[in-house]
Order: sequence, then C-alpha cells, then structure tokens
Amino acid sequence: MREKPPAFGEVGGAPVCGTASLEADTDLVVPTIAEPEAQPDTATATGDTENDWLCAWCHHRVANDKDRFPYNGKDVFTFSNPEGIRFAIITFSRTLGCRQNGTPTLEHTWFPGYTWSFCLCDNCGQHLGWYYRSKIEFAGLIIARIVRVVCTRN
Ligand SMILES: [Zn+2]
Repeated sequence: MREKPPAFGEVGGAPVCGTASLEADTDLVVPTIAEPEAQPDTATATGDTENDWLCAWCHHRVANDKDRFPYNGKDVFTFSNPEGIRFAIITFSRTLGCRQNGTPTLEHTWFPGYTWSFCLCDNCGQHLGWYYRSKIEFAGLIIARIVRVVCTRN
C-alpha cells in the first residue's frame, strides 16, 4: 500500500476509501453503474480536494462535502421515483460544477413544496441529481453517481 507516491493533501496513512456514504445506503440496492477507469493524475489538484465530490464519469468537481445541507436535520435521503427506481441522495446547499436543466415542477417532488429540476454535470452532461427550490434552494446529488477524491486515487 505504501509503494505509490503520496497523494496531494495526504497526511500519512493510506487514503480511507468507501466510508463516505456508508451511513446512507444500508438498505439500498444501488443500481449497477460502470465504474470509470482509474484516471492517471489529472488536474483535479485544485480547490478543497479533501472534501470535493466528483462526477463519477468524468471526475469533474461537482460539490464540496462542507456544503452538505441538512433538510429537517438530515442530509441523506432515499427515494423512489414513479418508476420504482430507488435513489439515495445527499443534499447540498450549493453545487460547484453543475448546471440546472429542465423546467422546475412540483410533480412527484420528494420535498413537499419544493419544485425540482435536473442537475447535470457541467462537464460531461451526466444526470447527477436534482435542484430543489422553494423559499430556499438546494441540490440533491445521487450518491451512486458521485465519488470522493480519495476514492479516485487508489
Ligand atoms: Zn461529469
């Protein structure tokens, strides 16, 4: 485990991987999504890398863990859409490299009174979650579609 060069921002010890979302999906069957190939060193060494969440497809920065937004005291939710597909999401008060898509609607919304619209990766266009808006606005990003920086460095 120690033969690889030290990762940026690493303060000794192997990076801890796979713990970030453990509390979120204990009863969740996560849809199988192809893991992106491990990337060689790229230009992700910017910003608050320890806390960044990246698009699972293109590793574009999309959120920061410090921006987790507690809605009624929780920042992790599991919902099913009308097709019965379950999604586990983390709520963030803001996103970084995402764009809003679609007309906000209240139809089938998971947060009563909040309209939703799609949240797409601004780099590759993947659907990563939803924006919710009422008196305030926040985003819910699908846990299975985002990765922490430490998990891309193995
Ligand atoms: Zn992307």
